[in-house]
Amino acid sequence: MIRLEHIDKRFGDHHVLKSIDLALAENSVTALIGPSGSGKSTLLRCVNLLEVPDAGRLVLGSTALTLVPGKAPARESVQAIRRKTGMVFQNFQLFPHLSVVANVMEGLVTVQRWDRPRARKRALELLDRVGIADKADAWPTTLSGGQQQRVAIARALAPSPQILLCDEPTSALDPGLAAEVVEVLRSLAAEGTTMLMATHDLRLAATIAREVVFLSDGEIVESGTPRDVFTRPREPRTASFVATIT
Ligand code: ADP
Ligand code: MG
Repeated sequence: MIRLEHIDKRFGDHHVLKSIDLALAENSVTALIGPSGSGKSTLLRCVNLLEVPDAGRLVLGSTALTLVPGKAPARESVQAIRRKTGMVFQNFQLFPHLSVVANVMEGLVTVQRWDRPRARKRALELLDRVGIADKADAWPTTLSGGQQQRVAIARALAPSPQILLCDEPTSALDPGLAAEVVEVLRSLAAEGTTMLMATHDLRLAATIAREVVFLSDGEIVESGTPRDVFTRPREPRTASFVATIT
């Protein structure tokens, strides 16, 4: 079980996340939607502590961390949480100086201290799972955006995280290439991967999310099934946002 409790984050005077409460069931996909600037990326970054929340509590399985204003969290707790998360970014962010397979191996070798043959074997399995094993020895820049994003997904999954965080994973892609990535995420969801993803992609949210959460101005305005949020929103703010993306 993954829980965010009263997560608060400010950048200076700007209150970006206002007491966010969110529980994610294991093996389920939650889509985070909302206008640009509503705090979606910050929320994802708070789950893996790329941003440290000012206050609140994070629970990832057996690891819990309570954030106290003005007090940096213990390094071990930060690492324990990070190891349980994998992150996929809008712009892939592959290491350009490493081959595809080396990108996927990197965290296993440097963070988890796996030996290279074992890491390579795991990386090749993951590349196969995202349908791109034939590109293992290619350079990232020679791949299409959809292929690069699939490598990024394999890399994020390498340490077997409890949750895959995806920040607009299809936004930088043309429709055809986005479809490839949606298909990979759909199959991971079907296999029971727990995911939290920020997305403007209705097809992605509607086809794989069990729950849709609408964030506006740093607050959760409404959440529910994709059908409820997209076709019969309860809140006027949700309705007007949904109208802009459908
Ligand atoms: P979204 O992903 O929904 O578009 P973000 O989480 O990126 O929203 O941003 C929420 C708000 O926080 C925006 O107003 C953004 O400018 C601000 N913000 C995000 N990151 C930082 C930062 N590192 N420093 C200052 N302000 C930030
Ligand atoms: Mg964002």
